[in-house]
Order: sequence, then C-alpha cells, then structure tokens
Amino acid sequence: MLNAKTSSGTTFSLGNHYRKENLLSLRKTEKFFCPVCGEAVSLKLGNQRIYHFSHRSGTVCRDIFESETIYHMEGKLQLYQWLKEQQIPAELEYFDHIIGQRPDIMFHYDGNKYALEFQCSPITEEIFIKRTDSYFQQNYIPLWIIGGNHIKAKRSNVFSLSNFHYFFLRETKGRQLLLPSYCPEEKQFQILSSILPYSIKNTIANSLHFSIQNAGIEDILTPKWIAHSNFSKWLNEHEKSTMYWSLHPSPDQNRFLREIYHHNLNLYLLPPEIGLPVHHSLLIQTPAIVWQTYLYLDALEDKSPNDLINLKEVERNFNDRIKTKEITIRKLPQIPRETSFLAVKEYFLQLERLGIVIKRNETTYQLQNRIYIPKTNREKEERRNEFIQKNRTILAKT
Ligand SMILES: [Zn+2]
Repeated sequence: MLNAKTSSGTTFSLGNHYRKENLLSLRKTEKFFCPVCGEAVSLKLGNQRIYHFSHRSGTVCRDIFESETIYHMEGKLQLYQWLKEQQIPAELEYFDHIIGQRPDIMFHYDGNKYALEFQCSPITEEIFIKRTDSYFQQNYIPLWIIGGNHIKAKRSNVFSLSNFHYFFLRETKGRQLLLPSYCPEEKQFQILSSILPYSIKNTIANSLHFSIQNAGIEDILTPKWIAHSNFSKWLNEHEKSTMYWSLHPSPDQNRFLREIYHHNLNLYLLPPEIGLPVHHSLLIQTPAIVWQTYLYLDALEDKSPNDLINLKEVERNFNDRIKTKEITIRKLPQIPRETSFLAVKEYFLQLERLGIVIKRNETTYQLQNRIYIPKTNREKEERRNEFIQKNRTILAKT
C-alpha cells in the first residue's frame, strides 16, 4: 500500500518522490491510517524494499493488502510515475466509492477515464470479470497489465498462454489485439501482438519490448501495427499439434472425429483451405481446423458452384455448435462476446481471396469453386505444398 491518511484526514502518497530523511522525521511526528479500514498503519522505510505502508498484525484488511508483493508495489509506483512524467492526471490507489473498487491507478487520457490494474498474482475468472464489468459500467476503460514475470517465451515467437493470460487481452481502436505486460525489475513493457494460437495453450505471437523510459502511453494503448509474417511457422506448429491430439483425442475431439467420419472425411485428408489462421482466431479456443471443418459441413459441403451462402444461417449454425460445446469461445473479459463471429467473417474473406467464394452483399456469399477433398495422403501432401506456394501472399495476410 502506497497511500495512507494522516491524522488530519488528508491522503499522503508515497508515489510523489519523498526523500528518506524527510520520511524518517515525518514518521516521528505523524500518524498514518489505512484509507480502507481506518486502522493505524506503519510507514516502512527499509533499504532493500520499496517504501510502503503496512498494517499491524491482526487486522482483517491486512489480508487484502499484505498479499501485495514488493514486485507489485514497485510496478505500480513506476507506472504511476511514468504517467505523471507524461503530464497525465493520475491517482495512485484511487478508491471508487460507487463500485467499491480500488484500481492501482486511475488516470484521465484523451477524454477517457482509465482504471489501470497491474496484476501480478492470479485471481479467479469470476473476480476478474466482476471487476472488469464494474469498470465498464462506471465508464472506465479497464487497462489490465500483467506482471512481466508471467510472460515467458517457449521458443522464439512461441508462447504458452493460459486462460488467465488471455484475460489481459485488449483490443485497440484499430482492432489490434494486444496482451500488455510490465516488469518493474527490467523496467520494461512487453506487448504481445499478432497472437495466433495453434492449440488451446500455445500460440505464435510477436513480442514488442519498450523500456519505460522511452515508451509513451500511446505505445501501450495503440502500438504501431506490426505486419504478421509468421504464417509458415504457425502452419508447422498447427500441423504438429493436430497430429498430436488426433492420437490422444479428448471426448470433444472424439466427437469431432466421429462426425467427420460420418461425412466420409478423414482428419489427415482435410484440404489445405480448412484450418487457416485469421486475425481474430484467438477469440475461438477450438483449433482452427475443427471450427472451420464444422463450417465446411454446415455451409459448404452440400453446395454447388453459384449456390448462395447466407451468413446469418452460418452464424446460427455457429452459435448452435457453441451451445452444444462443439466450438468453445475463449473467455476474454475485456472484449465484447459477440465479436467471436468476426473470426468466421474473416475466414470467409480469406476464402474469397482464395477464389472459393464471392461476396454478393453484407450477408451473402456465392460459391465459386468447391473445396476439393484429397483422396490419398500423397495427393493431400502435393495439394498442400502447391496451395502454400501459390497463395503465399494471401496467407501472410491474416
Ligand atoms: Zn486497512
């Protein structure tokens, strides 16, 4: 905790660069109280640790604040000072009485009110969603930043992200999806962008690093778009991952395998047009090859060239598959839920670029060429390589 009340009732914030000598003498003459529970708190001025206020043992409030780590307090303080240096009106440990929530930092920027939460310890999905929803209701833009020690690359451009990580995903005005993190030890931001999951847990992503000294708020809210060029890497990982789960299918995957078998399809003989990454792929937790096969079965399989495809109907079928849990939508508290169909729309755009369909109007596509289903492994291999060779530039645009 970096703020406390003095005996006169004013707020004293350690966010404002106080020198140790001054704090030492102040500690002799002033008493400090917790702004939440009103109990007396001690001003800690150790050499190793960040200056902070601490509850005495035995208070209930202690449990909430004392679980706050030094890493968290350091980060919160650095982010607060960083905003102040940019002349952005900010308040540390601001308490909103209406929603009863205390974002780490509240700030005003570009006509908007932000609630910044620097989150270093895992919290439940329920709490995350509840806090986020309350911020939205009170017209805050939530800005959740995950502690940098939670983000580790497995290999270059490959990250393992849990459901908790995905909670931090936010969408910029330009519809870019970003996962921001900050490390107070390295004093740098790391922003993951162009996140293309190839399995529930693993993803390809671009990683941008900014030192806090050189970064401005815009670099975090709307970093410059970095064109994606990881398609071949994604394809490799996606194929390996598909191979893996086909050998050890979960009950849902078994259901999928049975359904395609009834349609005389075989996972290893699916055409290269099925299982493509699109920009909003990550909104759908189910692997691309699965949801796109369902789409093929629901909207394309029984169509002949020139037949029309109604996007409303596609959406109904998609939602039915969600209800029956054949398709799972990722839980992304900061992104409106209805957005997930966007991934399907982007897939249709991709099919149009590939010459499979033509867009007739906002809700209608027309089949141009049927997707050819390979008959043998050899044919599949040949078509796959030819497809990648021929459509390299289209596929890079995800
Ligand atoms: Zn307290």
